[in-house]
Amino acid sequence: MINKMEWSKMINPTVRSLPPSGIRKFFDMVTEIKGVISLGVGEPDFVTPWHIREGCIYSLEKGYTMYTSNQGLLELREAISRELDTTYGVTYDARRELLVTVGVSEGLDLAMRALTCPGDEVLIPEPSYVSYAPCTMMAGGVPVHIPTSVEDNFRLTADRVEAAITPRTKILLLCYPNNPTGAVMPKKELLAISEVVRKHNLIVISDEIYDKLTYTGEHTCVPSLPGMRERTILLNGFSKAYAMTGWRVGYAAGNADFIAAMTKIHQYTMLCAPITAQMAAAEALKNGRSGMQQMVQQYNRRRHLVMQAFSEMGLHCFEPGGAFYAFPEISATGLTSEEFAERLLMEEKVALVPGNAFGPSGEGFVRCSYAASVDDLAEAFRRMARFVKHCGVK
Ligand code: PLP
Repeated sequence: MINKMEWSKMINPTVRSLPPSGIRKFFDMVTEIKGVISLGVGEPDFVTPWHIREGCIYSLEKGYTMYTSNQGLLELREAISRELDTTYGVTYDARRELLVTVGVSEGLDLAMRALTCPGDEVLIPEPSYVSYAPCTMMAGGVPVHIPTSVEDNFRLTADRVEAAITPRTKILLLCYPNNPTGAVMPKKELLAISEVVRKHNLIVISDEIYDKLTYTGEHTCVPSLPGMRERTILLNGFSKAYAMTGWRVGYAAGNADFIAAMTKIHQYTMLCAPITAQMAAAEALKNGRSGMQQMVQQYNRRRHLVMQAFSEMGLHCFEPGGAFYAFPEISATGLTSEEFAERLLMEEKVALVPGNAFGPSGEGFVRCSYAASVDDLAEAFRRMARFVKHCGVK
């Protein structure tokens, strides 16, 4: 007799225990309703600039359709190395200290898996990007959340990091400019955190995917801080700055031995990022600066519109210094973040993400992406203002 397969018993219990993404739930609802303006997705509304697409077309015309080296095209790694050197003064050897990944997503997964032993604790400032805790858990680690609050401008403090450290702490995950809050970290505060990191011999994984989208000052690249290059894995990519989410290219930069360890996992799993996408990414770094800066100017303009719209609605919104998200407080409406997002979607057809999708400190907030056209933003805010007024906010 053949036993019936019971998949629920076969699935790895860690995977089974992962909560479904709070963002995904809203995307699924949005696709089922007609006429929705979505300010929910964390993705540029721009199409990848034409010259970058041509970089891909060129690679196809030339018949470059094979695997690249596991570490990625040397030409692209050299361009990344130059970019990091000229922008932040941090130098990485393109041959030994850089790995091209399938987006920052793969870089995060590889870094976690190459570092984490069962039970190692990973400090994650919260609210945080939805993948950090699941990636930690799938690597066998234990996510330890450090709450941040609007009173602190959603910035992490050295004291809070130190208070969360135990003998099992191994990694501190940083993401500035931040998703979902838009918070940026002044250099002085990062310096204070880096002292704690060095004192306790921690490793930093720094996800700087929004580095180019910084509006209120200079971005500080974590490995550029004294003593931090040797203990930081820098993750970055092309999705946000160059409007290339669908291309799936990112990179990791760090210690040569560690990059070799990440490459080992990458070569047995992903092999390499798609060659056409790597060629396009090389073109983005070669000739993409002015196009990228124009997109950043547009985001900044929209950022001002969004701040003004929330203030006119009577909702307090912390001023985001980077990325393309606003994180307004909605508690004045008397609704929870999920109720707010669900009712706004059903009653006014505007999609936002409830703040609690990013962790418990996100309760009382919603994430509003302003990577949308000015016309869509204007209409979405007309509808939102009507909804908020209806909730009794003056
Ligand atoms: N890190 C953060 C903070 C993000 O917000 C995102 C996407 O939204 C990613 C990583 C994933 O980036 P990629 O498209 O390079 O995989």
